[in-house]
Amino acid sequence: MEPQETTPGEPVIELSGLGRVYPAGDGQTWVLRDVDLTIRRGEMVAIVGASGSGKSTLMNLIGCLDTPSAGRYRLFGRDVSALGPEELATARREHFGFIFQRYHLLNELSALGNVEMPAVYAGVAAADRHDRAAQLLERLGLAERTRNRPGQLSGGQQQRVSIARALMNHGDVILADEPTGALDSHSGEEVLRILRELHGEGHTILIVTHDMEVARQAERIIEIRDGAILDDRANPEFRALPAAPAAEAPVTARASGWLRQGRGQLREAFLMALRAMNAHRLRTVLTMLGIIIGIASVVCVVALGAGSRQMVLNNISNLGTNTLEIFAGQGFGDPHSERITTLSVGDADALEGQPYVAAVTPTVSTSGVARFASQEASALLNGVGAGYFTVKGTKLVEGSYFGAAAVDSYAQDVVIDTNARTALFDPDHVDPLGQVIIVGQVAMRVIGVVEAQTNGFGSSGNPSFYLPYTTVQTRFLGSSSLRSITLRVADDVDMDSAQSAVEQLLSRRHGTTDFHILNTDDIRKTITSTTETMTFLIAAIAVISLVVGGIGVMNIMLVSVSERVGEIGVRMAVGARQADILVQFLLEAVLVCLLGGVIGVAIALAAGPLISLVQPNYAFIYSPLTIALAFASSSLVGVVFGYLPARSASRLDPVVALSR
Ligand code: ADP
Ligand code: MG
Repeated sequence: MEPQETTPGEPVIELSGLGRVYPAGDGQTWVLRDVDLTIRRGEMVAIVGASGSGKSTLMNLIGCLDTPSAGRYRLFGRDVSALGPEELATARREHFGFIFQRYHLLNELSALGNVEMPAVYAGVAAADRHDRAAQLLERLGLAERTRNRPGQLSGGQQQRVSIARALMNHGDVILADEPTGALDSHSGEEVLRILRELHGEGHTILIVTHDMEVARQAERIIEIRDGAILDDRANPEFRALPAAPAAEAPVTARASGWLRQGRGQLREAFLMALRAMNAHRLRTVLTMLGIIIGIASVVCVVALGAGSRQMVLNNISNLGTNTLEIFAGQGFGDPHSERITTLSVGDADALEGQPYVAAVTPTVSTSGVARFASQEASALLNGVGAGYFTVKGTKLVEGSYFGAAAVDSYAQDVVIDTNARTALFDPDHVDPLGQVIIVGQVAMRVIGVVEAQTNGFGSSGNPSFYLPYTTVQTRFLGSSSLRSITLRVADDVDMDSAQSAVEQLLSRRHGTTDFHILNTDDIRKTITSTTETMTFLIAAIAVISLVVGGIGVMNIMLVSVSERVGEIGVRMAVGARQADILVQFLLEAVLVCLLGGVIGVAIALAAGPLISLVQPNYAFIYSPLTIALAFASSSLVGVVFGYLPARSASRLDPVVALSR
């Protein structure tokens, strides 16, 4: 092994007047008092004393896991009594190797992984780390055990793994707190022999023990009682062991450059997070559930919203893109509209002559019962002009439309829609064209079939019949007034100016505004703004559900932190910085949320086609933007709600954490 190059005998640890006080009841107890102690490089020192005499407290102070309440501590000539958590972590990483009575290995890591850990925090490149850890384990007789988990190793083997871990960052000073306390005597002797070998190689060794037998193996014995040093003497029985010949391990290369280090550490944190998630699979899934449900429902609802809007807009374009419909009465709710009969064919003719009008049709309507052979259907009778089909852009399925001549001659020709065809004619046996049907008392001949119109919210399914309006007026209504006039605005004319021109013209003709105009453009705008409102509402629900999911994540992460306090303590002891711990837990929260987001999006993508299969009226349109937003917001939830637990983990006091 290769301890730091310093001249032999140089002071490594200098304590003067060191004290540590703990609050006890109303007052406080000095667990350590006025400790003056110098440990020189290459010494092998045993600190021996009864249980509760303050040995571990002293060890933790020396190992920079704890800060003294009084006195001064110089480590390699540098005052460390007043250092902050960051510098203490650096000191632990660079100078110390810890060996604990209970080994403190991490159960979810292999022996190799445990040994490597200090080098991860020191930023050593992965390949160098693996090599060195494998060499150390081989040297300690564990070459066959590198892949084993601590649970699969005996106590003695675990303690040897922890010795290898202590040596990983070179272990200039090895601090062993009751290293043989949990071992049978054979394994205990083995561990002590290794420590003496390491001493022979130049490591400074500090052993804490309550057992004088163990202390006798050291070069110098310090007795401690009630927090004060009682005796400090050289051990005449001590015989140094020569260094084992196979002991030389090559100096490992440190990773070069902070970028590579940062990447390596991030990768390591990522793997740690995956391991932790894997170790608690059920809990991870339950934690994700809130995020999964939130993301899946939001992506689904947004896709459904986009799909329905598209459907509605398609239907509106069926209605005719640039049509104005003029109705009698001042609005749809006007109670007098039935009696207002001023909308006339003359109005339609006047509009026909206007430059901004491409086509005009008067319309009247009534209803009745249509019969063909034994079939009966309730019928919506539309009396329309010859221009109607152009204005509405209807699609002819078979036959033909009627023309102006039919309108002039009150022809009893009817164009039916596909709904009416289905209702009246057996599709396999009867060709509707040329058939005579009876509506009310009036016979009429079918001359054409058109596709059923939709009204902007899907097809009504009601059979519709289109007759010349003159026929409907004389045969059914006995009145010459119109229900509405529908006109198509010329392509190069703006809808709004056409609408106001129509308003002016009709107001002048009627002397009053006893009509209202429906603009398909307005409907489109209304629908678009309605869906915008819907989208906003959905977004609000999304935020709420993600916040609820995030609170769930925070909760579980807090539980996870409190369960893993011991692990955090070990990581800190081997030199993890607060930032390392923070990143580890934050990354875990983000990964949980991100994975939840991925699963949620996958569920949403699968749900759309499935629902469409059962309910063909539902259309789903997924946008990459929504999906990207879903991932982004789930990661954000991880960061926001993972921060608090991660910070509380990183702020733990190493000594308190280790004692759990
Ligand atoms: P040893 O390792 O020699 O058995 P410790 O150093 O663990 O002894 O403890 C010395 C004394 O300090 C004991 O009486 C113990 O109860 C007390 N002590 C240790 N840690 C704390 C703490 N965090 N708070 C209060 N008292 C403590
Ligand atoms: Mg102790």
